[in-house]
Amino acid sequence: MKKIVSPLLEWYSKNKRELPWRKDKDPYHVWISEIMLQQTRIEAVKEYYKRFMDKVPTIEDLSKIEEDELLKLWEGLGYYNRARNLKKAAVEIMEKYQGKFPSQYEEILTLPGIGEYTAGAISSICFQKKEVAVDGNVMRVYARVCKQDIDVTDSKVKKEVGEEIRKILPDTPGDFNEAIMELGETICLPNAIPKCMECPLSKYCQAYRYHLEGELPRKILKKEKKEEQLTVFLLVWNHQIALNKRSTGLLKNLWEFPNAASFLSQEEALNWLGEGNLVKHMKKGVTNTHIFTHKKWTMKSYLIELDHPIKDYVWVSLEEIKKNYAIPTAFQPFLEYLEKDQKKNN
Ligand code: SF4
Repeated sequence: MKKIVSPLLEWYSKNKRELPWRKDKDPYHVWISEIMLQQTRIEAVKEYYKRFMDKVPTIEDLSKIEEDELLKLWEGLGYYNRARNLKKAAVEIMEKYQGKFPSQYEEILTLPGIGEYTAGAISSICFQKKEVAVDGNVMRVYARVCKQDIDVTDSKVKKEVGEEIRKILPDTPGDFNEAIMELGETICLPNAIPKCMECPLSKYCQAYRYHLEGELPRKILKKEKKEEQLTVFLLVWNHQIALNKRSTGLLKNLWEFPNAASFLSQEEALNWLGEGNLVKHMKKGVTNTHIFTHKKWTMKSYLIELDHPIKDYVWVSLEEIKKNYAIPTAFQPFLEYLEKDQKKNN
């Protein structure tokens, strides 16, 4: 592994991508981008990152932001607890570190929502600490270069790989960590298609030498996700839509369209609503499937026009929903469907 350090750093200095959060080594910028990158592709993160920094340019701003505004900024990224933890950590940085991002790995690790990977990335990139940042990309490159048949999803194995990498960290640990991740993202790609001919490490890579780059790392069968069925109620009254704030469980405190567990027939749906006599018009709406980390939701919907509003819900226009209410990705197709339906009827 030691032999890969120089060619990797040289390759990185010539080939690193221009990314907005790489313009400076500001820990606030690196932190926000790292948390966003845990959930989506680099190209998509660029837009979210820009919007976030325009609205919340400093740690102090983040510590003061209203939760609804924060969740709206996070809309579409999923894993909303990560956004809440950003704010909690910002409050802690304001109170405990007078608004200055801590520089020590151990201090960073104690902040809400920051795990070993993120603490390693921030402390090495922004403060040049000799810490490792091992993500899926690093695990894949390591497994291939060293021809190791390891379970790259196992946290114990990840720790062991981290210790091996720590031994070879150069005096520019941040560049090294970014370089190996960048190689995994752009050259040593997953799913049996690494671009070995363009790789600066091919001379040292054991998987390449033995033609095993397509076999390593070995695939780990994922557990089946638990499936849940939902009936979603798209209730319309006087051009206003019914919204409900989730009080528990998955997507807690986010806005949703009212819904019931299981698929309901038209008759059952009216019973569930308990407002049968208020229904002016009812039709079947779109269906959607959404996959979470451990669950899969299959959703069917009814579009129902009511005579009177139902008191339990908040009634808001579509324009207002889009501007001020954070609707989780699972419910976005229903929002689009309502928009199309409203345009059709205007
Ligand atoms: S030679 Fe191929 S398998 Fe080895 S590190 Fe480079 S891209 Fe990955």
